[in-house]
Amino acid sequence: MSTLPAFEHTALDSIPTTAAQIRASFLSHKTRPLEFRIRQLRKLYWGLKDHEDAITEACLKDLGKPPLETYLSEYAWCVNDVLFMAQNLHRFAKDERAEDTILMNKFFAPTIRKDPMGAVLILGAYNFPLQLAIGPLIGAIAAGCTAILKPSEQTPNAAVVMQKIITEYLDPSCYACVQGAIPEATALLDEKWDKIFYTGSVSVATIVAKKAAETLTPVTLELGGRNPAIITKHANVKLAARRLLWAKTMNAGQVCVSHNYTLIDKDMVQPFINAMRDSFQEFYPQGARSSPDFARIVNKRQFQRIKKMLDDSNGKIVLGGTMDENDLFIEPTVVQLDSADDSLLRDESFGPLLPILPVADLDEAIKIANEVQDTPLGLYPFGNKQEVEKVLAQTRSGGVSINDGFCHASIPTLAFGGVGSSGQGAYRGKASFDVFTHRRSIAKTPAWIEALMDIRYPPYTANKRRKYAALNDIKPNFDREGRDLGWWSWLMGLVGVKTLAAVVLAVGVRLYLQRRAKL
Ligand code: NAD
Repeated sequence: MSTLPAFEHTALDSIPTTAAQIRASFLSHKTRPLEFRIRQLRKLYWGLKDHEDAITEACLKDLGKPPLETYLSEYAWCVNDVLFMAQNLHRFAKDERAEDTILMNKFFAPTIRKDPMGAVLILGAYNFPLQLAIGPLIGAIAAGCTAILKPSEQTPNAAVVMQKIITEYLDPSCYACVQGAIPEATALLDEKWDKIFYTGSVSVATIVAKKAAETLTPVTLELGGRNPAIITKHANVKLAARRLLWAKTMNAGQVCVSHNYTLIDKDMVQPFINAMRDSFQEFYPQGARSSPDFARIVNKRQFQRIKKMLDDSNGKIVLGGTMDENDLFIEPTVVQLDSADDSLLRDESFGPLLPILPVADLDEAIKIANEVQDTPLGLYPFGNKQEVEKVLAQTRSGGVSINDGFCHASIPTLAFGGVGSSGQGAYRGKASFDVFTHRRSIAKTPAWIEALMDIRYPPYTANKRRKYAALNDIKPNFDREGRDLGWWSWLMGLVGVKTLAAVVLAVGVRLYLQRRAKL
């Protein structure tokens, strides 16, 4: 780590020049050829590989992140994503033919071409500093965009490692790293972008989206949520407790997609608390504080925010509860609540707090979950098949892990993103390519088709209209009540009543004549 330069804010007056350079490079078409993009992705791979130790050390310094967690959720995550992208880019970038609805459209060869959005800005968050910044950068490079990345200033060591990788391994005319906090982010937002990819809090997302709206710049917003876990009376509580404890202790609960609270059938409360205690003992036999496998809160500001949420709660601490500001340590803490109005449900804790609220039944759980936030980032139902299906049918969320905590977010080919107040747009796997891609519609009108095309030119006549309808009109497969017509009526709609009647008559006459001949 000593070989890494110290974190330094980028000079504000250099930002417009860097942004202009990144835009000019895009307009030079340098990033268009797939070979260029694949070469950059491969270089990024080597940059990450050469800095594995630096990444581990940076995350340890910034967040006290255990090396195994850094390996899983930062290093291996980014390395696998970049390799997957480089190996599949030809397939993702290939032109797509549009679906045919009518025969005639085939002649226009309707095609979707995957165009890069342009010069893009990526603003990262602190909790998984590499994953949340390098992840979108992989998509931007793959799509053929040029990009500026601004990592979170709250994890300065990880930010420095990323800057080193970007400047030393990637084409500096196309990709740059800007370091800083609000002033630098604001200066970046003052520039013109073709796309802004933002990960962070709802309050800052509002600022970003307003700024983007001034220039009609498209945004992807990856935000947080007050994600519920729901435990029904038929759930396996031991499994639920173990999995939910893992989902709230990884990165000390600083995970956007971890459950913010648990709604639990009243009869399962005590068995669940007992199971939590057992799992806690299994994970941290000497306690979380002395364990090398439990991270720290990123800084004093975030520590104070989480502490205040706990102080303001009317709930009863049933497990954990200790904390130490000097060490930025907050023990995994289970709090039993008696009201859905509690401070622990009102805000996203983004820390190792596990509030549980007993409910009478599944209906009450679903009602409360929808009232707290009807579009959270993640949702975690534990129960039997019918109960889980009911939860899915009566709620919304960015994603779902059934009988687990945020497992879906770790599957690299599953698009990850929020809905409504938890965000818009998704990435990872092919979605990372798509999110920086404009699907450009292309049709090509051949010269020889002009004889058929005359129907679109004036003078308009009834005959032209009939000809157009014969070539283009699709027949409905439903009646006036919106009901399916069934295959018989559908066939009639397709071939026409008269044709069908003629066919039936001809078959009938033939059968009659055959019969007579036999007699
Ligand atoms: P944040 O909003 O404070 O910061 C995110 C980025 O915005 C940083 O780069 C920061 O420098 C910049 N920023 C901060 N204030 C700004 C301003 N006034 N103007 C312009 N830019 C500004 O978020 P954070 O504290 O780093 O992350 C925590 C939040 O992010 C949580 O709400 C969490 O749920 C969410 N998050 C979401 C995801 C996801 O993928 N959906 C992932 C991680 C974190």
